[in-house]
Parts: sequence; C-alpha cells; structure tokens
Amino acid sequence: MISKKAQEIPPFIVMDVLEKAQEFERMGEKVIHMEVGEPDFDTPKCINEACYRSICEGKTHYTHSLGLIELREAIAEDYLKKYQVKVSPEQILVTSGTSPALLLLFAALLEPNDEVILSNPYYPCYPNIIRFVEGSPIFVEVFEEEGFQYLSEMIEEKLSPRVKGIMINSPSNPTGNIMSPERMAKIAQFSPFIISDEIYHGLVYEGKAHSILEFTDRAFVINGFSKLYAMTGWRLGYVIAPKEFIRPMQKIQQNLFISASSFAQWGALVGLKEAGKDIQRMKETYDRRRRFLIPRLRELGFGITVEPTGAFYVLANAKRFSKDSYRFAFDILKEAKVGVAPGIDFGTNAEGYLRFSYANSMENIEEGMNRLERYLERYKLNKAKSA
Ligand code: PMP
Repeated sequence: MISKKAQEIPPFIVMDVLEKAQEFERMGEKVIHMEVGEPDFDTPKCINEACYRSICEGKTHYTHSLGLIELREAIAEDYLKKYQVKVSPEQILVTSGTSPALLLLFAALLEPNDEVILSNPYYPCYPNIIRFVEGSPIFVEVFEEEGFQYLSEMIEEKLSPRVKGIMINSPSNPTGNIMSPERMAKIAQFSPFIISDEIYHGLVYEGKAHSILEFTDRAFVINGFSKLYAMTGWRLGYVIAPKEFIRPMQKIQQNLFISASSFAQWGALVGLKEAGKDIQRMKETYDRRRRFLIPRLRELGFGITVEPTGAFYVLANAKRFSKDSYRFAFDILKEAKVGVAPGIDFGTNAEGYLRFSYANSMENIEEGMNRLERYLERYKLNKAKSA
C-alpha cells in the first residue's frame, strides 16, 4: 500500500535523538541538547517587528512564485557586497527553507540514475533528497587528517557523463570546516554543475568563506535564513541558479508550494538590511563557545585533528571509546542526559564520531561536558571490568 519511495527514505537520526531526549524531558529530566543544529538565539527583533508590520499592513497573500522582488534584489545586493559577484534577481528563487530549495534543484537537474558527487561525511538530507527524485548519490570519502576536505583527484576518479552535479558545503555540517579558495577553484573547473550549500556562510570564526560564484557561473547556490539569522522556524531559503533553470524550478515551486510565506519574506528583507549588529553578537557568542568546547572535548579524550572554524559543530573522533556511534550516542543520552548526534547519521565515513553542536548556552555546554566527563569515567571503568 505504501510507496517504495516513502518506505525507503531514511529518517533523520538526529531528530530521533531529539525526540528520545524529549521523552526524558517529559519524565522531568533536564537534558542538555548538543544534537540539534539550531541556533539557541531568538530571531533578531528588527526582523520580528518587520514581520508583524507586514501582517498588520495586510501583506498576508501569496507572493510571486519566485519570491518578492524586493527580497530577491536584496539577496543579489548581499552577494555583490560580500563576494563581489553579480547575480540578477531573475536568477533567484525564494523557497520555504533551503530544504525545499534542494528538492526543486535536484528535481530540475536529475534524470533517473543521474549522479551527484557528495563528500562522505555529508549532510544526511542530500543523498535522501537525491534518491527521492530517483538520482544517485556517489560518495567521495574525506578524512579527519585532511580536515575532511575533498581531494580533487578523488572527485576526478568518479567523473563520468552520468555525473550532473558536485555538492559542496562550506562551512560544513557536520564537520564545521571551511574549504580553501584554492580547493574551490580546482573543483569549479570540473564540468558538472557545482552545487554549493552556503547556509552556514557568515558563521565563520577564522578565515573567510568564499562563494562558489567567485569561481564559476556553472553553479547553484543554496542558502537561507535559518542559521545566520536564527530563523529556523520561519522556513525561508533560496536558490541562485543559472538562468535556464529558473523557469523549470519555478514551475515545480508553483505546483508544490505556490510561494514562500509572505510575511517571512518581509521579515527577512529587513534582516538582510538591518540585522548586522545582531548577527555580529551571535557570531561572537558562538566563537566563545567554540573556543571553550574544542579543548574541553580533547581533555575528555576525543580526537579533533583540524579545529573547526565555521558553522556551530565539532565532529569529534570517539573511536577510542566506541566504534558504534549510534549505540554510543543513545547511551550517552540515557545515562548522562546529553544529546549528541551519532556520526553514522552523516555517512559510513563518520562512524566512530560524534557531532557536538555549540548552538546552546555556555552554561549548558559546560554542564554537558561535566556530565560527559562523569559518564566517560564510569564507561571506562565498566569497559575495564568487562575486558
Ligand atoms: N543544509 C545544511 C547543511 C543544513 O545543516 C541544514 C539544516 N540543518 C539545511 C540545509 C536545511 O535548512 P533549512 O531547511 O532550515 O533552511
């Protein structure tokens, strides 16, 4: 009765950890959440106020299916200001989050069995969405010692006429690492389209993140407001695409979603223009947490070879404790009441790792690490006993 597609799409394991954590919370336990990739900050006030204003002014109707022209112009300006790249508002399609943007893009790009190259580890929804539109993800392993960076020779080995896209994500979920401009330039020379998920741009604590559009026009940019503007619940994202893809994606949008939320778009427009100070404040706070968390995790025995400098994640090597990240994460949750994301959610090559999100208060992160320390002491004792 239930379609193969629906049966086969895997769950997002991080959400399973979160839901288990919520069960403990309903029983009265305090859980420290380091599993979810969601800013703990509320949306900046200027954005909220612009949204209320737009509702009061009756801006509660469908918008243009590509998105408000004012917002698309502001996005184009933002890319010009930040990366000195010229993007026309006609190349932008505003969506209800970057997740639908990924769906529209892959639906417009892929014939059945067409391939998209992904790094392993990867953001879990990439292969799931690619398979959902009957494409085929092809994985290139990336390694801790290399800062989980793509080696272009390894991409080259996978190239064939069936490969329609190469996915990059910098700063990356789950690794928090940033791709160097030299590496981006090399990857941009390959013939398939480059699909660059730039959702963590702006959350960069050392160095600079570059847009793929600085290196090639044969690219799609995925971006959105969830992370930098702390607007996960607003559901707003966009795709910048080569012009010939806009009309096909627009038709899919019209059929599946009609348009993104009107007042969310009015709020985001003010965000792009006025939320600079709020963003700076959030970024500085994330950075303070990052600087605390990395040495503390190392002190507890986790391996971090290349320090992450972007997004709000640390992918820590936990192999000396356990090679089964799923069991380990759920055990930590049950015994220490700390939510962490098991590496296996991000691909076979992240097995034995745990992803820690520092999108939580310093106080909670400190408490989470203290709980983890006590847990690991017991864990090591039990392991020694059973050996
Ligand atoms: N891409 C990456 C790399 C992400 O981490 C996320 C959120 N976890 C998304 C896309 C989706 O974000 P949203 O749909 O909220 O815009």
